[in-house]
Amino acid sequence: MGLTAPVRVTRRCAGCGACLLTCPEHAIRPHGDPLTVLAARCTGCGECIEVCPVDAITEVEAAP
Ligand code: SF4
Ligand code: SF4
Repeated sequence: MGLTAPVRVTRRCAGCGACLLTCPEHAIRPHGDPLTVLAARCTGCGECIEVCPVDAITEVEAAP
């Protein structure tokens, strides 16, 4: 069973790195295309969404 993080990085990502530096949980990792959000760390605080200059990070619908 896969655990899904509260947010995900989409292919709009421009690779600026702002979200990596901003995430208080260090949940976004600089590998993968798009970037990987670690479900075990992400709290869904939304700070990465606020800081992304190209709106590349979106909330993920909670599983029913
Ligand atoms: S929602 Fe918060 S905890 Fe999750 S990746 Fe973004 S900044 Fe990090
Ligand atoms: S802040 Fe946005 S554009 Fe920059 S690396 Fe993160 S997801 Fe990509």
